[in-house]
Amino acid sequence: MIPRVTATIDLTALRDNLARVRRYAPGSHVMAAVKADGYGHGAVPVARTLADAGVDALAVACLEEAVKLRDAGIAAPIALLEGVMSEDEAREAVRQHLQIVVHDPWQLALLESLQDATLSLWFKIDTGMHRLGFAPTAVPVLANALQQRPAWNFCGWITHLACADEADNPMTQRQIALFDEILGTLPGARSIANSAGLIAWPLTRREWVRPGLALYGASPLPEQSAADLGLRPAMRVEGRLLSIHDVPEGATIGYGATYRCPQLMRIGVVAVGYADGYDRNLPTGTPVLVCGRRAPMVGRVSMDMITIDLREVPEARVGDTVTLWGEGLPAEEIARYAGTLVYELFCGLTKRVHFSYSGF
Ligand SMILES: *Cc1c(COP(=O)(O)O)cnc(C)c1O
Repeated sequence: MIPRVTATIDLTALRDNLARVRRYAPGSHVMAAVKADGYGHGAVPVARTLADAGVDALAVACLEEAVKLRDAGIAAPIALLEGVMSEDEAREAVRQHLQIVVHDPWQLALLESLQDATLSLWFKIDTGMHRLGFAPTAVPVLANALQQRPAWNFCGWITHLACADEADNPMTQRQIALFDEILGTLPGARSIANSAGLIAWPLTRREWVRPGLALYGASPLPEQSAADLGLRPAMRVEGRLLSIHDVPEGATIGYGATYRCPQLMRIGVVAVGYADGYDRNLPTGTPVLVCGRRAPMVGRVSMDMITIDLREVPEARVGDTVTLWGEGLPAEEIARYAGTLVYELFCGLTKRVHFSYSGF
């Protein structure tokens, strides 16, 4: 059976991107974000590749994601970015040797009640994002809690940047300054940077950096391409040409009849749609790659199909692969057409997509 839509993940690109990140932040340990199924790339193969390449730690959102990695035999340190939700989860986290990111007084109380000496934890401080994290005023309480529990394995202090992808936004500077001020000389490693931070804000390169997107080879900065930054896309998504036919001048194409042919046109139908994760918001004009050349999508994205203008690609044949994003057609560009972020594009691939891996 020929796979309908495939996502091919180049593990060599992942390794190269990790090496690139290390060159950006040569003095930092790298905690790779592999949450949300490795940003849609497949958490287990991604985590295994990065762990084998010597990444210092992995980060997932929740216990379930971490257990999946442990069950696959991945022994690298894993941090739970959202911490734990219950005592049971906390016990399981300890059993699985996970690092718990503690971000709220109720979580601290829960961990203190466990009386478990082998606990590994980070403290997350809210320096302005106002999503997760202890208030800066809680730092003395946290430092005291650590003193009371000398056997705890304290990994360090984390904060998260709200605007690191905006080169001129003073918010980043303010968050860094606040983090440094409230922690002062307290012991413990520091971790501030996501991908955008570690690339665009050298001051955020502390003991640990926490890249996600950059490792997958997408640019976290709107003004710079992945190629500009020395990153290589790890994912290529392809569909296949299912039909090619001529549509007369003045005829309309697809649902809503939103596209009217300005002349007799050669139209290709590609077997990919929003049920595969090809965003329904993608408008007429969104490029795809056929026979190595760009062709514009026309009309609306259907559940299982899209239609493309093949006037400039006369050599295209039924069965040809059509690249929706990947090397030569950055996912960042497609995300822009969809009015979303490349993060969402990656995570939006559905179960119907066949995954294959290269570069073992
Ligand atoms: C997801 C995440 C990251 C990685 O962010 P990227 O923008 O993908 O580099 C870093 N830190 C935290 C807390 C995260 O949730």
